[in-house]
Order: sequence, then C-alpha cells, then structure tokens
Amino acid sequence: MDSGILNENKGEELYTFIKRLYPICRSITGNGVRQTLAVVQEYIHLQIHEVPSGTKVFDWVVPKEWNIRDAYIKDSSGKKIVDFQKSNLHVVHYSVPVNQELPLQELINHLHSLPEHPDWIPYRTTYYNETWGFSLPDAVLQAMKDDTYEVSIDSSLTDGHLTYGEFFIPGATEEEVLFSCHICHPSLCNDNLSGISVMTHLAQTLQKMKLRYSYRFLFIPATIGSITWLALNKDKTVNIRHGLVAANLGDPGHVTYKKSRRGDAEIDRIAEVVLRDSGKPYTIKDFFPFGYDERQFCSPGFNLPVGSIMRTPHGEYPEYHTSADNLDFVRPESLEDSYRKIYNIISVLESNRTYKNTNPYCEPQLGKRGLYKHVGGGDAQVDQMSLLWVLNLSDGRHTLLDIAEKSGENFFHIKKAADLLTEHDLLSEVER
Ligand code: ZN
Repeated sequence: MDSGILNENKGEELYTFIKRLYPICRSITGNGVRQTLAVVQEYIHLQIHEVPSGTKVFDWVVPKEWNIRDAYIKDSSGKKIVDFQKSNLHVVHYSVPVNQELPLQELINHLHSLPEHPDWIPYRTTYYNETWGFSLPDAVLQAMKDDTYEVSIDSSLTDGHLTYGEFFIPGATEEEVLFSCHICHPSLCNDNLSGISVMTHLAQTLQKMKLRYSYRFLFIPATIGSITWLALNKDKTVNIRHGLVAANLGDPGHVTYKKSRRGDAEIDRIAEVVLRDSGKPYTIKDFFPFGYDERQFCSPGFNLPVGSIMRTPHGEYPEYHTSADNLDFVRPESLEDSYRKIYNIISVLESNRTYKNTNPYCEPQLGKRGLYKHVGGGDAQVDQMSLLWVLNLSDGRHTLLDIAEKSGENFFHIKKAADLLTEHDLLSEVER
C-alpha cells in the first residue's frame, strides 16, 4: 500500500461531499439520517439497518423516531422572527410538536442563545426529555419586544426506527478493523459531516484493495447508535483487533489522537508513529471517558482497542455546536490531511509484520549482495540506517512497528528496507 490512491483533488472531493449533506436536517433518528445514508450509498454498498423504537439495548432503549417539517416564531404583525427553513439549528432537536400563542415572558423559557457570540445559533437537543424549544442568535433575542408570539413546530415524535449504516469489506483474515463516525448532527460541518465524508471516501478506496484485515464501517447516531450496534452485535466484537472513531476532521487545527482505554494497543502506537513521521504538529491524548463513541467501545465490558482521531477536539473550538461550524469553517486541505493520515495508519496496520534475519551472525556484507546500490536519499532508495535497524532487530520478536519506534526512522522507510532485505533472502517473515 502506498499513497498513490490520492488524486490531486481529494480535499475538494471531500469538501464537495460535505456541501451536499450540509442542508439535510439530521438527528439521532428520522428521515434526515435516511437521506444522508442514501447519499453515502452512492459511494459504497452500505447496508441500512432499522431498529424499532422500544428495543432494549443494554441499559438503554431505542427512542421514538423524530421528524420535522417546519417551525417558526412569528410576532403579532405576522413577521417570522425565527424560521426553521433558514437554518435547521433553529429548533431544539427532538422538540415535541407545538402550535400556540404566548407572551414573551413565557416564550423566553424556551429560547436558547449565545450571548458571547451574538450572531451564532447554538445547536441544542432534548432527546430524553419531551419538551420543545428554539435556538436563535442572541442579537435577535435581545431585539424581541414585549409582544404575543405565535410558535409552531410541525414535528412528530412517534414509534418508528433508529437507522444506521454498516459497510463490511472482507479481507484475508476475519480479524477486523472498526471505523465509526456519527451521523446525527444537522447542519454542522466539522462535528459530524467531516467524519462522514472522510469515512465514506476511505471505505470507497479500501473496497478496491486487497486487504489483510477485514474492515467494518459504522455510520451511526452518537451514543445510542454505538450502544445499539454493540448490543445487537456483541458476538462480532471478538474479531475487532483495531478501531478508530472519527470526528472533527476538517477544521484548521492540527491532528489529535486520543488513545484507546488500553493505552498501548497497536492502533495507539501506530497512530503515534504516523503522526510523528508526518513531521507536522500533533497532540496525543490519553483515554478519558468523555467524547464520542469511544466511550461505548472502550466501556470496561468491551474494552476494545479503539482510539479516536480528530483535529481540534470537540468543545475546544468556539464554533463547536453552533451555526459557525459551517462550510467556511472546514477546509479541503484539512480534510485531505486527515484522510491521508488515516490512510497511512491503515497502511501501517496492513504491513506491520515480524521478520527474522537469516544471516544473524554479524552483519551481512551488503555490497556483495548488490544492496548498496539501493542505498541513498532518493524516493526509490532505502536509507542505510533503516536497513541496519531492520537487520539488527529482526530476531523474530520485533515487529516493523517496534523497529520504527525504537529507531525513530519513518515506518515506511523501515518497511521498504524490510522488503528489500526479503527480496535478497536476508529476512524471512515469521508468524506472530
Ligand atoms: Zn456533537
């Protein structure tokens, strides 16, 4: 595997996909999720699952399905102050239907704004508490006069389904790599759509490749989606060897990797080596039980080797969960960089093998074997230190990842050296 799969416009491709999904009003259930998954299906053969409301999933229950058609607040002159058609963030998600007139002093209990960013609309939800509300810019809220307002939310909250998508790519072994992203946020680009875009395109690329591992991609509503998948697929989790939760992949910040609960899983070490080798700034965080679906995958009963990859972590950028997490906030170059790094993590996973030096008594004479002509600086070349490290540490116990970590050499240089030495019968692969 190499990065040859990257066409020049990957960043634009990833961005265009986000632009297409941006207007859809998604939530943890409902038609917005179905519409979103239908778009993903144009790229990969995604299997759509519908789990009925009321299904017990561990300590939780699949909620009622929520759908919304329209919502507004009108003043007494009939002017729309707040209009769902202009932004789907205007309604508190999971609001029950409402149609009434009420004075400002009562209405205000149902209004949410961000005084510190008076032009932004906050994103609010009320999944497990049946109430209703609106979000609006604080500037609009402050300008509201003492008046009687007509409020209308044309929504439905009824028994239906929780919808999620799953895509499985069989590899040479049953051992699996799990990728998951959440699909439950409305018009928010970084938190939600960036993950969906990168995962869809990665899956599209991987399905055309010959792979050692099998890959499972989950497109699920956050929290309740992973709990539901885990409850219904407990038997499948025994095959999961590595995994990543992906979110916030398009903002201008650098990449952050949050380790699995295990802390020393192969995926944790690989992510660190890939970020180290990139030569760009990055952050590694230890596991903590907050964030996205790693909370469920890394709950103590499962304790799966699943880390999470993001750029700026949720909550650490002011645009998070507001209307400012929009198409201007995410960037093609950031999306492409995230895509490339995750692809590199997969490449390392696929090629992390263990070898034995077939000539372990002193160093083999490289010149005699014509190996020195391969040594040098160019791209097609192998560097001498990588060769020497691989020869020295290939004792049947060290993996290529161990060697890359110990030597500080780029993993792909180590891999290239191992390939060359294998070709010259100086290494033979051993089963771990
Ligand atoms: Zn979120």
